Amino acid sequence: MSDDPSRESWPSDRPPGAIVSNRVPDRQAVGTKSPRTASLRTEVIAGPSPTRYTSTMPERDRYDVVIVGAGAMGLASAFHLIRARPELSVLVVDARSGPGEGSMGASNGMVRDVFSSADNHVLAKNAIAFYRKIMEEHEELRAPSPLLDLYGYLWLLPESRLNEYRSLVSNSHGSIDAQTVGLDEIQSCPGLDVSPPRWFEGDDAVPPEPIAGGFFGRNCGAVAPEMLARFYFQQARSLGVEFAFDLCVQRLSFEGREEILLHEPSKRPFSFQEQMKGRLRISRVHFGDGRSVETDRVVVAAGAWADKILHPLGVATACSPRAQLLFSVSGPVVEELLRWEPPVRPIDSDHGKARFPFLVLPTGAVLKPIFPQRQMWVGFADTVAHPIGTEEDPGTDGRLDYSMARMGERDAFATDALPLVTPYLPKFESAGVRLENSWGGYYNFSPEGLPVLTEAPYGVIFVGGDSGSAIMKADSIGRLVAAQCEGKSDARLFGGDSYRIDRLSLERRSVQEEKIIL
Ligand SMILES: Cc1cc2nc3c(=O)[nH]c(=O)nc-3n(C[C@H](O)[C@H](O)[C@H](O)COP(=O)(O)OP(=O)(O)OC[C@H]3O[C@@H](n4cnc5c(N)ncnc54)[C@H](O)[C@@H]3O)c2cc1C
Repeated sequence: MSDDPSRESWPSDRPPGAIVSNRVPDRQAVGTKSPRTASLRTEVIAGPSPTRYTSTMPERDRYDVVIVGAGAMGLASAFHLIRARPELSVLVVDARSGPGEGSMGASNGMVRDVFSSADNHVLAKNAIAFYRKIMEEHEELRAPSPLLDLYGYLWLLPESRLNEYRSLVSNSHGSIDAQTVGLDEIQSCPGLDVSPPRWFEGDDAVPPEPIAGGFFGRNCGAVAPEMLARFYFQQARSLGVEFAFDLCVQRLSFEGREEILLHEPSKRPFSFQEQMKGRLRISRVHFGDGRSVETDRVVVAAGAWADKILHPLGVATACSPRAQLLFSVSGPVVEELLRWEPPVRPIDSDHGKARFPFLVLPTGAVLKPIFPQRQMWVGFADTVAHPIGTEEDPGTDGRLDYSMARMGERDAFATDALPLVTPYLPKFESAGVRLENSWGGYYNFSPEGLPVLTEAPYGVIFVGGDSGSAIMKADSIGRLVAAQCEGKSDARLFGGDSYRIDRLSLERRSVQEEKIIL
């Protein structure tokens, strides 16, 4: 691997293995018949020509490294590990049918380098630069639609928050490319009420905060998660990484010491397991179909489901999953908004024309433009803790719960999303907005809102704690995981920044709390 990031290059060959179709389904092409009971995946593969990745069952009975999870983090990790150490045998296992079908596939697919934490900023900025670079080098990442489209984020903010954002820019010494936008200019947004009198009908006790101005992040926009997943998958596979889909990792074990593990995740670990941590290493990965493989190293990149593998070992991740929903809407009110030309110039502008940006309301509600379908996706930062459903998601062995099957909660549009949108965009309450579809996935929150990458006991590496923003940082995280597997203390990010890995560890964590979680 070249030390000079500007001279990095990627193999352009197609993967040697058979992929029936290399297209990950497009959520927009799919209607929702019964969103309360149909999972996103069930919907998208129910069409006439379902997308299926050939499931490669593990070919060997031993691998140097097994990565659990082919989501944003696992895929980028596999790619960077095999680039750095081509001699290693690496297996990536996922319970779903293809790459990026967990929370990655349910995501908004937005990228930004505007964060309050300098660590998040650095990780995202370098990853976004990498996504731009691969898009420039690979035609299939430019057409028919681009991997990356930096049309900008526009935060509409009350006075107190505007000042916070202004100081972010000055503290970043020019690293954050952003500008403030005057209230007059924002008021050209059709239907926007900058001083809403009340939250709900009849509730005028404490009115929502008036909008004082805007903050426009330029190095921000959309990435196509399905294209990114396919890129990492194909590249890693062409370099020799093996993938096994529709295969659930049920448990990890120590060779010859089965008796010290609990295999029932519902029971608590034995207290004596604490004493074993420094003395034993995981050496076997067991699958739901009864088979297993031997390994030297396990990387758990299982997103919201990581605890299910690690808790039975008595290993804590410090992270907790929370459901997040998205709603796609259409109609005349949406179309009027999409025609708005905001007074800001994005990095990727359509022939110099400003376009509707990713709009963040003071309540945390977000609106993503979906130009080709003349729709918008509406989401909101769900920071209210509520229970995670544990109903079974019928994976290959029925053990991968935290089901995404019931997550398209249409009712939640009216009860949860609209109250955060209508104070500022009252027309959203009208018949001019039609709910087309809804789906969901998980944010796996770390305590500070930054990723966790830690050498857990028993030689297991845990990477997770995405806190809702790991796609935009995935490339940097993948480089850190690869460096950690190599036993290095630092990793070089794509743009050349060097990053000390243990800043993200649980034992020597050294990060500031992230205040901008969307
Ligand atoms: C509604 C929504 C909107 C979002 N918007 C954005 C956004 O705009 N930008 C952004 O950067 N991020 C966004 N995110 C967050 C983003 O999706 C996550 O940060 C990212 O997917 C985390 O990557 P991951 O690899 O940790 O987890 P995942 O993508 O969930 O991948 C984990 C994988 O592990 C597999 N797995 C789990 N357990 C097992 C097992 N036992 N055996 C085998 N396989 C297993 C799962 O099937 C899954 O494929 C959003 C998320 C949601 C839900």
